[in-house]
Amino acid sequence: MNYNTEILTADSSSIRKAAELIKKGKVVGMPTETVYGLAANALDESAVSGIFAAKGRPQDNPLIVHISCIGMLDGLVTAVPETAVKCAEKFWPGPLTMILPKTDKIPMATSGGLDTVGIRMPSNKTARALIDACGLPLAAPSANLSGSPSPTSARHVYDDMNGRIPCILDDGRCAVGIESTVISFEGDSIRLLRPGFISVSDLKEVTENVIVDKGVLDIVSQDAVVASPGMKYKHYSPKADVIIIDGSLDSFRKYVSDNKVEGTWCMTFSESDLSGIDCPAVVYGSTDEEQARRIFNALRELDKHGAKKVFARCPGKTGIGLAVYNRLLRAAGFQVIRL
Ligand code: AMP
Ligand code: MG
Repeated sequence: MNYNTEILTADSSSIRKAAELIKKGKVVGMPTETVYGLAANALDESAVSGIFAAKGRPQDNPLIVHISCIGMLDGLVTAVPETAVKCAEKFWPGPLTMILPKTDKIPMATSGGLDTVGIRMPSNKTARALIDACGLPLAAPSANLSGSPSPTSARHVYDDMNGRIPCILDDGRCAVGIESTVISFEGDSIRLLRPGFISVSDLKEVTENVIVDKGVLDIVSQDAVVASPGMKYKHYSPKADVIIIDGSLDSFRKYVSDNKVEGTWCMTFSESDLSGIDCPAVVYGSTDEEQARRIFNALRELDKHGAKKVFARCPGKTGIGLAVYNRLLRAAGFQVIRL
C-alpha cells in the first residue's frame, strides 16, 4: 500500500480503468447513492483482504456484496425467501441490503466468517457501470478508515485513503448520504439490523411484521454475539466528544449557553438555532433527508475546525430520522442528555 491515489472524474474511460484494476485484484474507491465504497472482487479472498487492510477493519465485520442485476444473485445465495423477492422488486436498485444464505462461491473473508451474505443492488449509475464492466459482484464497505465518519464525497475518501488505493471514481456528493438499510428474514418477518433511507414504514408496505433489532438503538458490548456484527464496533467517530442534546430548541439553547467552554461547537438544524448564543456551529439540515445527506460531512467539518466538544441537536427518531439518530448515537458513543 503505497499508491499515488488518483481522483478520476467518473466517465466511461475511468470506469474501464477502475474495472481493469479490480479484475487484477485491486481495491478502488466507488461512488454509490448511499456513501462511497471501497470496491473489490467479492469472489477473490485476497482482493477482499486488501479492503480490510486499506480500512483497518476488523476481520469479523462482513462486507456487503454489490450486484447490478437480479441474474447476478444466481450462484451467490442458496435461497431467496418470498419476502426478499418482494423487497427486491420494490426497493432495488436502491439503498437496501438483504442478508441471505451464501454459497461457497462467496469466500468466508467476504462474509466475515458467517454463512450468510449481505447483498445490495445500488442505483448509482457509476456503481452499476463499474459492476457491469467488471462482470463481477463487488464487495464494498464504506470507504473510510475503520471507525471514522463514512465518506460522502471523493474528497472524503481521499482524505482517509490517500496512498492506500490506486484510484477513486468521483461522481460528486452522495444522494442519500448514509449507509443502506440492512435487513434479514425470519419466516414472514423482516428484522431491521441497520436503519437507512428505506424506512420501517417503507418495509411495512411489504409486510406488517417488521422487527427493529435491539442493536439499532442500544449499546452492544464488544463480546456480544449480535445479528449484525457492525453493531458492536465504534463507528462514525470524529475526534471531538459529541453529546446529543434531546429536547426543545429553547432547552438546547439554554444548555449550550450554560455548558459551553473553550473548543465547544454545536451541530444544529439551522443557523438560527443558536441566535443570541455565542457558540460556533456546523449546520446539518432541517429535514430528515437533508440531515442524512449532510451528517457525515458535518462530523468531518467539526474535526477540521478542531472542535473538542460538540453539542448536537437530536434528530427525529422515526422514518429516515431513525437512521440519522442511529448514526449520531454511535458518533456520540451513546451520550445523550435528555432535557
Ligand atoms: P459497511 O460495509 O461499513 O456498510 O457495513 C456493512 C454492515 O452490514 C456490517 O457492519 C454488518 O453490520 C452488516 N452486514 C453485512 N453482512 C452481514 C451478514 N451476513 N449478516 C449480518 N449483518 C451483515
Ligand atoms: Mg462503514
